[in-house]
Amino acid sequence: MSKNTRVPGYMQSKAARNARGIIGDREIRFKCSLQNTILDVLRGRPGWQEVPGPNFQQQNMQQNSRPAAGSQTSTQPPDGKGNKTGSTGTTPSNTQNSPATSGGKTGTKPTLSSQPAGPQQQSGGVPNRIGDGDWDFYWCDREWLHQNYDTMFLHEHQKILHFRNHYELTRKNLMVKNLKRLKKQTEREQGKSEGLSFDFHPTTYELPSEYHIFVEEFKRNPGITWIMKPAAKSQGKGIFLFRRLKDITDWKKGEYQPLTDTTREVPETYVVQRYIENPYLIGGRKFDIRIYVLVVSYNPLKVWLYRDGFARFSNTRFSLDSIEDAYVHLTNVSVQKNAPDYDPEKGCKWSTLRLRQYLSAKHGSEAVKKVFKGIDNIITKGLQSVQKIIINDKHCFEMYGYDILLDDDLKPWLIEINASPSLTASGKEDYELKFGLLNDLLNVLDLENRLTGKEKRIGGWDLLWDDGPVLADDGNMECTTNGTSVTTANSFLGCHNDRKRQLREIYTSAQAIKKT
Ligand code: ADP
Repeated sequence: MSKNTRVPGYMQSKAARNARGIIGDREIRFKCSLQNTILDVLRGRPGWQEVPGPNFQQQNMQQNSRPAAGSQTSTQPPDGKGNKTGSTGTTPSNTQNSPATSGGKTGTKPTLSSQPAGPQQQSGGVPNRIGDGDWDFYWCDREWLHQNYDTMFLHEHQKILHFRNHYELTRKNLMVKNLKRLKKQTEREQGKSEGLSFDFHPTTYELPSEYHIFVEEFKRNPGITWIMKPAAKSQGKGIFLFRRLKDITDWKKGEYQPLTDTTREVPETYVVQRYIENPYLIGGRKFDIRIYVLVVSYNPLKVWLYRDGFARFSNTRFSLDSIEDAYVHLTNVSVQKNAPDYDPEKGCKWSTLRLRQYLSAKHGSEAVKKVFKGIDNIITKGLQSVQKIIINDKHCFEMYGYDILLDDDLKPWLIEINASPSLTASGKEDYELKFGLLNDLLNVLDLENRLTGKEKRIGGWDLLWDDGPVLADDGNMECTTNGTSVTTANSFLGCHNDRKRQLREIYTSAQAIKKT
């Protein structure tokens, strides 16, 4: 590979690095609250330098034992929790599922009970406060942002993860509230039929505030299954399924509240949601799909969609007979990896590429295109529902993890949106996916200022929305059944991700454009 075609994130000469510093001639300084794949990516990025902090000191202590960033054999301690916000845990290793590191794999069946979940896991983020000018890029945790954003002054070039009030979309109750509001507005302005495009989340009520409306709905639909979920928890914590109102009587009385949680003044908010009883099954197992979406601006809305994602399977065959069994009904990796017969080598994931190929072979490409178009609609509607509410800030960006479930009619349903999708790898393939995803995220943000800003694809990220739908280039025209050509959306979820080749091409062409 010639020097001119080198891809960022891969080995570069020192001279090339120095020439590419964005701020004068110095290197880009980063901070990172997490110790998982993102830290490997940032440390492996040519021309980027870590600002000293707790992670940095730990790195110095581990230096002799840690292989080069990006290698598949990093020896950093695995998290074993699949956590979303925690700052521990990192790359895969053969020992990652040993009892010592998996949070105690006992093989005991976890049940979905109406018992309270423990207090939400606190992030072990960087506790120290950093000066305004100490960093150019900060992958911070949400807690840090909440505590510091309002008093922080950011310089022109600084970039930070998370928008101030990201929870408007990522807390289960608020997401549904915002979607319901936009649906009503759309119906008012564009008619009832337009509102149908919002029918992608299961009927949901917030508890305790909407308890009485829920009871009416419950009585109208006798015998169906409902799922209760704490609004602000993750990893399947505190979730249970039920069919009788009596099952949530204790919850209503407030007895569900953790005894240890003395700080809570009002009952914890839950959502109660219609349980999807007819999930699409592969090999008799239920799965949901994790999709990565990057928002670099809310005003105007600018959205990128990553080609790779994965389907997360439950370990046990689906059945509605045992609604207490978490291994049957919850597809979270953090739940499934504790199943007695879980195989860490095989894991419980399929790439979206494999899923798309499977569905295409079974149902034909037209049916599959419809599924993925439906997913695009979910992504954009979700973001539009909070577009006017999110505090837009040119310094902020957000990488969301959307969770989508397919039913046996191939209809995609939105389950939830995460602001801190797990970046802890569950195996070698998962590490490769996350390493490429994050490296390309940095390529999209382009702090090095090497691109033109007009790209519609950067590595594995495709520009889905840029103040309006983005259409694919002419090369992607397709024929409809009546023979006319249509241009399709610039959306390639589950398509081949030849990211390295594509990066080489765009960097070469951007360099040529900039020279002229
Ligand atoms: P958490 O944030 O705790 O992961 P989720 O809302 O993502 O909570 O739910 C956890 C899992 O439960 C999902 O990954 C999915 O497998 C299952 N699930 C959640 N809601 C539903 C639903 N309405 N119907 C069917 N399965 C659901």
